[in-house]
Amino acid sequence: MKTVSSLLDDHWYERYKRISKLNFRSSIYDVTNRCNLRCKGCFFFSSGEHEAAAEENDMEKWHAFVEKEMKRGVNLAILIGGEPTLCLDRIEAFYKRMPTFCATNGLIKVPRDRFPDMMVGLSLWGNPEDETTLRGKDTFKISSANYAGDPHTYYLYTITPKQLGKTEEIIRKIKDVGLKVHMQLLSNDEGVDGFSWKPEELIAIRDEMDAMLDAYPETVISCKYYHEIITTGQMLGRPFGWLECPSVTISKDNREPQPKRLINFIRWSSDLQTMHRCCTSETRDCSTCKDGAAHMSWVMVNKRAHMRSTKDFQNWIEVYEMFAKLYQFIPW
Ligand code: SF4
Ligand code: SF4
Repeated sequence: MKTVSSLLDDHWYERYKRISKLNFRSSIYDVTNRCNLRCKGCFFFSSGEHEAAAEENDMEKWHAFVEKEMKRGVNLAILIGGEPTLCLDRIEAFYKRMPTFCATNGLIKVPRDRFPDMMVGLSLWGNPEDETTLRGKDTFKISSANYAGDPHTYYLYTITPKQLGKTEEIIRKIKDVGLKVHMQLLSNDEGVDGFSWKPEELIAIRDEMDAMLDAYPETVISCKYYHEIITTGQMLGRPFGWLECPSVTISKDNREPQPKRLINFIRWSSDLQTMHRCCTSETRDCSTCKDGAAHMSWVMVNKRAHMRSTKDFQNWIEVYEMFAKLYQFIPW
């Protein structure tokens, strides 16, 4: 096995040192089963996860639950839903205690006097036409008015095959409202016509994602290795899928042999008791999964495998840095 210092020059070693102190222990929380949208292809609703359990309404139970999660070692709470901003008190139970990320459609503005530095990820599924087709609304118009210039907010841009050739239009708009953007790909869980990826489209979108990073390095939070992984579904010659996925809830993980995985990861339902299989859809066929965070984590937990060459290890560092920026552990 090669050593870190034999692989890296001073510049890269410094970058490595900065992230090597970080020790993410994330888990994901369904804050509510409700949403003020119903997007076609939302994994939460399409897989029936919103009906898996009844919401816990007692705020004392939320506070006690978060305390318990901290004792379990969680140091990064990723809040999803449904739409978390429908339940600000529940968000606050996390935010008061640990680094918290809130994924939202941006239709409701998180009050910054109450949550001054909470990281907010705004979902965006394309240009106004595609957003209207898939989500029933041009959310960008509303979310960009709510969050323009907010230093703790970025767009989580889910690219669909229909976005080929159009990503620059979106990224320029995001730049113009003074926000950052991170890209991921649609998994099309509901099989909406025209929104499933063809192999040649994945090749083309990878080129486009690379070009966007080159053209808008201050706006796009990404790296080319991530683009390669997410579009090919391959890492160091290994295919992504159930056997490799790191984001599986610990109590649902019966895989043998056990792959490298996020330590003690759980995705909790909003009753604070039920657990979902993984960070995305309970019913998704893992061979079609394009989830950005799961792919990112896949790279991050496989550090040793990337220590076979300088380039591979630099790729690993870049993905780790990207994750750390997205959750505000290091500056943009
Ligand atoms: S806004 Fe998010 S949670 Fe709500 S339906 Fe759309 S994808 Fe699902
Ligand atoms: S659906 Fe995706 S995130 Fe869930 S277990 Fe399968 S590969 Fe992992």
